[in-house]
Amino acid sequence: MRGTALVVGGGIAGLAVARGLLDGGWEVEVCEGLTGPPDIGGALGVWPGAMSALDRLGLGEEVRARAEHSSMMRLRRPDGRVLFGAKGRGGHLVSRSALLDLLVAALPDGTVRWNTPVTAADLAPDHGHDLVIGADGIHSLVRRTAFSRAAPPRPLGSVAYRGTLPGRVEQVTEVWGGRRIFGITPLDAHTTNWYAALDRRLLTKTELASRDPAVHATVLRREYAGWYADVARIVAGVEFQGVDRRTLYDLPAFGPYVRGRHVLIGDAAHAMAPNLGRGACESLIDAVALTEALVAEPSLRRALARYDRARRGPTRRIVAASRVVNRIAVTAGPPRARGSATVS
Ligand SMILES: Cc1cc2nc3c(=O)[nH]c(=O)nc-3n(C[C@H](O)[C@H](O)[C@H](O)COP(=O)(O)OP(=O)(O)OC[C@H]3O[C@@H](n4cnc5c(N)ncnc54)[C@H](O)[C@@H]3O)c2cc1C
Repeated sequence: MRGTALVVGGGIAGLAVARGLLDGGWEVEVCEGLTGPPDIGGALGVWPGAMSALDRLGLGEEVRARAEHSSMMRLRRPDGRVLFGAKGRGGHLVSRSALLDLLVAALPDGTVRWNTPVTAADLAPDHGHDLVIGADGIHSLVRRTAFSRAAPPRPLGSVAYRGTLPGRVEQVTEVWGGRRIFGITPLDAHTTNWYAALDRRLLTKTELASRDPAVHATVLRREYAGWYADVARIVAGVEFQGVDRRTLYDLPAFGPYVRGRHVLIGDAAHAMAPNLGRGACESLIDAVALTEALVAEPSLRRALARYDRARRGPTRRIVAASRVVNRIAVTAGPPRARGSATVS
């Protein structure tokens, strides 16, 4: 079928679905509240299923050309000892901003209306489109407006920090140690990507509320004190690197991702703990599944039912698995006293 769609949100999910629908002959308008793609930076692991979604959108080769491979993944203890190592070239690492740039460039000028936040009034029944696609992230207005049974996001009990610094690393490393993890990956030929996640009970209220890079640096130096040299080197200069810090949430199940002429994709449908690195990947797979259903089926009702059948089960399982890994790695058990960080 063909029709018109309003896509709310111009992140990875919204841009990808717009590209797919335009290829399928739909008329599409993307409204994004920000003035341009978000500049969060950092690397995303693109797993094979997501790469094949990018191939179906005609963007796989460009993403591969910009991606880094890591030939080795290592899980370490804070003292540097390797707990587990795996060789392989299954996943690609691509910078979030490079992926967003490619997705924007794949759309005709004017498809995305930047600086155009959608309001509840814009979603009234006479909105003038055949379909509204909520690709508006974890705090989705489309979900809050059209899916009355959906509960709000629930805190995972952890906070994440992430950033980049000059210099190349070859390997993906994740270090697990007592309610704290630290990850190091390549970003591109000249840049290292790092992330840290820790139990929020290890931070004071002031630290949790602060946006000051000097406070972030104090937290990271205290909590990762004594960790092996690669972590210590990154944490040493963290206040000069530009750090993104956020409290982590995921989204409880709320039934179908479809209601009437509204459908949810990406984090709006299934925001998850970042521990398995799957949120953006699943957003791309959603975008392709929705596009293919809309183009192939003769009616909106059948297309949306097909999308929901294909995507709700798998994504709910990944939300649950990501939550379990977050709990095992970061939030299980009572926290030790603040300020008594040790190498465990
Ligand atoms: C620390 C961390 C690390 C991660 N690492 C990985 C990883 O390695 N691999 C991976 O696959 N995933 C990862 N993820 C998850 C990934 O970032 C998300 O799943 C992905 O960005 C979701 O994309 P989205 O387009 O659904 O939502 P978003 O990226 O949140 O985009 C939603 C967009 O909608 C816009 N918007 C919201 N409301 C409105 C409105 N009313 N009107 C107009 N626009 C609106 C917002 O401005 C935003 O641009 C990570 C997440 C975190 C927090």
